Amino acid sequence: MTAQPALSKRAQSIGLSKIAQLVSRAAELRAQGKDVISLGFGEPDFDTPLNIREAAQKAMDEGDTRYTATGGTNTLKLAVQKKFKNDNGLDVDLDQIMVSVGAKHVLFNAFLATLDEGDEVIIPAPFWTSYPDIVKVAEGTPVFVSCGADVGFKLTPSALEAAITPKTKWVMINSPSNPTGAVYSADEISALAEVIRKHPHVWILSDDIYEHIRFTEGKYATIAALAPDLSGRTLTMNGVSKAYAMTGWRIGFCTGPKALIKAMTAIQGQATSGPNSIAQAAAVEALEGPQNFLDESRATFKERRDKVVCWLNECPGIKCQTPDGAFYAFPTCSDCFGKVTPDGTKIETIDDLASFLLEKHDVTIIPGTAFGAPNEFRISYAASLEILHEACNRIKAGCEQLQ
Ligand code: PMP
Repeated sequence: MTAQPALSKRAQSIGLSKIAQLVSRAAELRAQGKDVISLGFGEPDFDTPLNIREAAQKAMDEGDTRYTATGGTNTLKLAVQKKFKNDNGLDVDLDQIMVSVGAKHVLFNAFLATLDEGDEVIIPAPFWTSYPDIVKVAEGTPVFVSCGADVGFKLTPSALEAAITPKTKWVMINSPSNPTGAVYSADEISALAEVIRKHPHVWILSDDIYEHIRFTEGKYATIAALAPDLSGRTLTMNGVSKAYAMTGWRIGFCTGPKALIKAMTAIQGQATSGPNSIAQAAAVEALEGPQNFLDESRATFKERRDKVVCWLNECPGIKCQTPDGAFYAFPTCSDCFGKVTPDGTKIETIDDLASFLLEKHDVTIIPGTAFGAPNEFRISYAASLEILHEACNRIKAGCEQLQ
């Protein structure tokens, strides 16, 4: 008999994500010969641009194959410094910058470096599924603040004020948001800053990973730039995964106060050492090479967004706001609840609707419960228009069957 490992409380506090469960059920159905469309993925469907792949090849050929400095190569940190200055108006020193194995790893480093048991992290819901789990791995306590469709899925100053306690360590801001696509305006960010200003023990983690996939006009709003007086307690994170279709390369970066970056670097040093040397060379080219890919992919995503929102709003029982960024649509479908499928199953929750659509209409949507939102589902429009149209037709056919 194989012995069962005695799992830590930490390991037991997180489970297989709902997204992973659905993806594996979809794979099972596909193996049975069903043509299931999955709109679950959180990554661009484009290839990494050629100039970036060539830079990686060159790095390999030129022997750029050794350990790098733990917090990233000097060349990449210089490119990141320039990026923060040019795109965000943030003037930061090199020792305020760190490169990690994806933006997700930035969160790990930050929470492991700062959270003790019971420390609270305010997470506006809907949230990216990994936030609460990473907080839990670091033995912190996620504190959810519900931000529904009525407030455009965005944290309001009064809701933030009400959630702050003496134990609050961090508040998460994610704009454009995964899963809602919501984008905070400069005024909205400034209003949140006003609340945080009154609570000097609260730090801000600004997850800007979808910065470049944004369909609103004007300058991108990030809190460290809008409230420079708070930059001494702000960690601004970003990366190349979404903007440059580089999810598999695993390069994220951040800027924050020197002492925090130092502690995070020490933690990273014992986990991964520096990030992959070749991927870092590729990321330098992403940040410093031609930027036309950003405009081209944004235009493609915008066209898809407009069509998908329109198609979803044709589905009975579904209402979809127009997201301002990222590549997700997040429709509300509470009007479907209480209805019955042709075989007599009552749809009581968003999970019921997701399994009905998967089992009977061959389309995977991600139920909002995965993101702390019981009335919505997420679809990713990082797929061709043809696939998206077919998927929306299947969702519509399912909704039309509900009585
Ligand atoms: N933040 C958000 C909001 C995300 O959606 C993701 C990726 N799904 C990440 C961070 C992590 O990005 P990376 O792939 O660079 O780790």
